[in-house]
Amino acid sequence: MARCDTFEVRPRSHRDTLLLLELLDASAACNNQVNYDRRQTLFETTDNADNRVSVSKLKSTVKQAVTQEEYRQQYIQILSSSTPQQLVQKNWEPWKSYFSLLSKYRDPNNSTVADRPSPPGYWKEDGKRTPRTVIRNDQYTLELGDRSRLEIPVGMDLKEKYGLGYHERVRLEVAGKPRWTGKQGRLEIVYDRDTETFTAYRTVGDEDNPPRRRDSYQPISLATTSSGETVVAAVDIGANNLAAVTTSQGNHRLYHGRPAFDTFHAHTERIAELQSILGDNVWSSKQIRDTYHTRGEQRNHAMDALIRDLGEWLAERGVTELIVGALGDVRKKHWSATVNEKTDLFWAHGRFRRRLDGVLEFEYDITVTEKSEAGTSSMCPACRSDDVHRSGDLLQCHSCGREGHSDIAGSVNFLQKHAAERIEIQTSGSMARPAATGEDTKVDGSQNSVPCLEWNDHAWTVEHDGHSTKEAPANQSTSHETGNVAPGVSDD
Ligand SMILES: [Zn+2]
Repeated sequence: MARCDTFEVRPRSHRDTLLLLELLDASAACNNQVNYDRRQTLFETTDNADNRVSVSKLKSTVKQAVTQEEYRQQYIQILSSSTPQQLVQKNWEPWKSYFSLLSKYRDPNNSTVADRPSPPGYWKEDGKRTPRTVIRNDQYTLELGDRSRLEIPVGMDLKEKYGLGYHERVRLEVAGKPRWTGKQGRLEIVYDRDTETFTAYRTVGDEDNPPRRRDSYQPISLATTSSGETVVAAVDIGANNLAAVTTSQGNHRLYHGRPAFDTFHAHTERIAELQSILGDNVWSSKQIRDTYHTRGEQRNHAMDALIRDLGEWLAERGVTELIVGALGDVRKKHWSATVNEKTDLFWAHGRFRRRLDGVLEFEYDITVTEKSEAGTSSMCPACRSDDVHRSGDLLQCHSCGREGHSDIAGSVNFLQKHAAERIEIQTSGSMARPAATGEDTKVDGSQNSVPCLEWNDHAWTVEHDGHSTKEAPANQSTSHETGNVAPGVSDD
C-alpha cells in the first residue's frame, strides 16, 4: 500500500525555472521514445505473425524491446544516471494494465472488456510534450519544515549549462503540508502549462512498510532508559486476553479481549442466523456478505489500535526488541472449539503478526523476534515451580503460595526463557495482576498492579471500575463483568 503527498515546487530563480523545465522536457522525450519503441514492437509483432501471438508472448516481446541501459547511455548527460531507468520502469506500468485488459478482451469466457484496448499513449498535450519526470527514492532529498526544500539530481550537461558545481544538485523550494509519513518512495514532478506551476507527487510507503497519517503522529524520543541499558519485552498472545506484555524493567500491560470478542461473536451468530433462512440452493446473500465485512472491519480496527497503543507504550519505555510466540504455540495453548474461533478468526494471528512486525519495526524501530512459547504458561514466575494451578486468568502457585494473572505470568516466563541470558530482567518474583480487579494487593508488594485495557469500539482504555459502559450483546454471558478475572477458556 502506498500513499501520495502533493507539493507545489517553486524554483528560486528564473535560471532554476529554465533548468527544471529542460529537465522535465528531456524526461518526457525519454519516456515518449521508450513508448514509441514499445508501440512499434507491438504493432510489428502483431502484424508479422502468421499465427496470432499469445498475450504473454506479446507482453514479454514488448517489455524486452527496450533496455534501461540503452536509455541510460542516451540521457545520462541531461537526466543523470538513475532517472532514465526510472522512466523506463514508470513507462512499463500502463503497459502492464494494457496487457491485462487485452487478455480479458481476448478471453471468450470473460465479458468484462468489450472494446479492444488501446496501447499506452505519449506524454503529450495539444501537440506538445508534457514536461514531467520521475526521480528514484534514494536520489532526492525533501526537507520539511518552515521553509521546505527539495534537492534533485541533474546530468552533467545541465550542470554545465546552468552553472552548477560538479557535485551539486538543483535546490528548489516546496510548499504544501504532507499528510503521510513513512518510507520515501519515488518523486514525480509535473509542469502545468496553463497555470505555469510545478507540482511534485511523493509516494510514501509500500507493501511491506505501510504509510501512516501525520495527523496522529507524535514524535517519540526513542530508547533512552536512565542507565542506557537494553530493554526487551515479551508478549503472551492469548484468547480472553489478546495480549499480555512484560518488559525487562518490570512493566506490564494487558489487553483484555472479551468485549471486542463479544462484538465479533455477535456478528458470527448473526451470520449463522442469516444462513439458516436462505432458500434452497442459495449459498449467500448481500446481508451475509455485509455482516462478514463489518465483522472483519471492526476486528481489524481493534487490532490495529492495539498494535499502535503497544508500539507507543514500548517505545516510551525504551524497548528495542519484542519477543512473540509462534502461531502453533498459541493454538496448542488454547485448544477448544470456541477458542479456535477466537484465535483463527477473531484474532487472525497471521494478519496480527504482519501488522505487528511492520508497525513496530518500521514506525517504532523495535525488532520483533519469534520464539517458542513452550512451557511458559504453566510455571510460577516467582519461584519457577511447575506445581501451579491455572484457572482462567488466575495462576496459583502451590509451592510459594503466590497468585497472579496467568497471561502476565506467561509473558514473564516467556521473557525469562529467551532474554534472561542476554540481559538483566527485573521481574523475578513478580506475580502481577490487573489493577482493576480491586481484590488483590496482598501478594508481594511491588509491581503487582497492571493496567488492563479494554476495547470500547474506539480506543483501548483502562476500565478502572471494572465494568464497561457498553452493554454486552444479546445471548452473551455477562459473567465476565464481575471483574477482569474473565471466565476461563474451559468455561466458555
Ligand atoms: Zn511460586
